[in-house]
Formats: sequence, structure tokens, C-alpha cells
Amino acid sequence: MADLPPLREVIARHGLSASKALGQNFLFDQQLLDRIAALPGPFAGRRVLEIGPGPGGLTRALLKAGAEVTAIEMDERCLPALAELGEAFPGKLEVIRGDALKLDHNAIMGGEPYAILSNLPYNVGTALFTRWMGGEEWPPLWTSLTLMFQQEVAQRIVAKPGTSAYGRLAVLAQWRAQSKLAMKVHRSAFTPPPKVMSAIVHVEPAAMPEGVSAKVLERLTEAAFGQRRKMLRQSLKGVAGAVDTLESLGIDSQRRAETLSVEEFENVARALSQ
Ligand code: SAM
Repeated sequence: MADLPPLREVIARHGLSASKALGQNFLFDQQLLDRIAALPGPFAGRRVLEIGPGPGGLTRALLKAGAEVTAIEMDERCLPALAELGEAFPGKLEVIRGDALKLDHNAIMGGEPYAILSNLPYNVGTALFTRWMGGEEWPPLWTSLTLMFQQEVAQRIVAKPGTSAYGRLAVLAQWRAQSKLAMKVHRSAFTPPPKVMSAIVHVEPAAMPEGVSAKVLERLTEAAFGQRRKMLRQSLKGVAGAVDTLESLGIDSQRRAETLSVEEFENVARALSQ
């Protein structure tokens, strides 16, 4: 591996001023980037999909850790800087220019298992997260997600019942996966600094509870949390059979959505999936 120039120099040389429209907030602190890259565990020989490498700070940390990286980047201004990085790690970095929301990630990774890491604009991150966590096929081809979010969104992902942060995102992230808040990242770590604090969530797939349809569970949580202040017997009126199912499972229909555990949601969804 050749000596790599400091990231700030790479950015200056390639004229990569951060674009607000593309949600660009770059990380330059190589120690922090190394710590993020270490979160999924040893990388030797493992394949990684990185979304939004930008000038390549995290990409560099991943390559140094021994990963084989495929990166999807929308901003073509970043491609020359990434090509330089590829030259320093021959055969280990593939860069695809495109919109990660429109691409088939499993196909890009050739149907082989891969870890996903990303420091994405927050709106894109949430849309991709919902997509990665959804669907009937489980376990997915990805083996872990290590994603930067706005801290408030990260807290919603790992929230426990009975809290105001607990909602659809928590159930989606927890019913068949282990999701944890792995690291808080201060806004001053970014250039330019975003308005709010960030946090990294790490997710690993777990066993899919038997007999539960993901679609049914999604419909149920959408209705329940769509009117989270209402009692379940009111909010679930539009989901055929749901209120009767609550009664038959001994779940008081006067409760509100945020008091139901993930397991209780699963049990209701299982009964409705029959
Ligand atoms: N990973 C770099 C870092 O940590 O310094 C850059 C992070 S910056 C917050 C987000 C990056 O995602 C930018 O480079 C931006 O161009 C890219 N991006 C934004 N939307 C994207 C999309 N839909 N698909 C692929 N890349 C996207």
C-alpha cells in the first residue's frame, strides 16, 4: 500500500467542496474512521458495500482493515479521488457511480454475502434502512449494517417500549435483528458540521420468528403507530381481525401502541398471518 495523502489535501486538490444538495458532511479524523470501520468485526477478505464514500475517508479505513470494497457514489466529482484510492489498493476497490436508492445491491455484490457500511445523508439513510430491514426473505444477503444516523433517528431504531421514541422503526429494527447504538459522533467531527448530533447504529440479522409475515407486521405497526395516542381498539379498526385477535391473545385493546412489546406485535401479526 502506497502512502496516502491526508484527506483534506485530497479534497482541496480535487475541488470537493461539500454539496448541501447531496447531504455532504465529510469525516476527516482517521482515528474515528478506523474505529467506525472496526465495528463490524475483523474484515480480512470480507466484502463490503459502502454507500456514499464521498472523498473516501471511510473507504480508506475499510481497505486498510483488509476489506474488499464496492462503493456506490452519486457525485461524479468524487470519482477521481476514489480512483486514486483504488490505485493504492489494487483490485480491492470497485466504484459504481449511481443512486443507491435505484440500484439492486444483491446483484451488484454478485449474490455473495456482504457487510454494509455507510455515512449517508439522513433522508437517504432512513429510506435505505427501511428497505434493507423489510421484505419476506430472511436472513438477507447482507450480514451487518453499520450506519450513521441523526442521533434522534438512531434512538428511535433502538428504542424500548413505553418510551416516546418507540415506534414503527424500533419494531422493524428489532423483530428479527439485533440493533444497537454503537457509537455517538459529535457534530464537530464533520466538515461542515451538521445542525444535530449523530450516532452509529449496528444491526445484525437474527432468526425470523416463525409464522409471521413481514407484510402483515408492517401493516399492523403502520396502523397502530399512525394514531399512537389512540387506544388500539380504535387505531387497529382498519386492520381486519386485529381487535378480535388482541382480545383472544389477552392483550387489553385499551392499551396504546407504544406499550406493546416487539414480541406482542409479533404474536398479533402471527395470528393475523394464518
Ligand atoms: N462517506 C463520506 C465521509 O464519511 O466522509 C461522505 C459522507 S457524506 C455525509 C454522504 C455521501 O453520500 C456524499 O458523498 C454524497 O454524494 C453521497 N450520496 C448522497 N446521496 C446518495 C445516493 N442516493 N446514492 C449514493 N450516494 C449518495
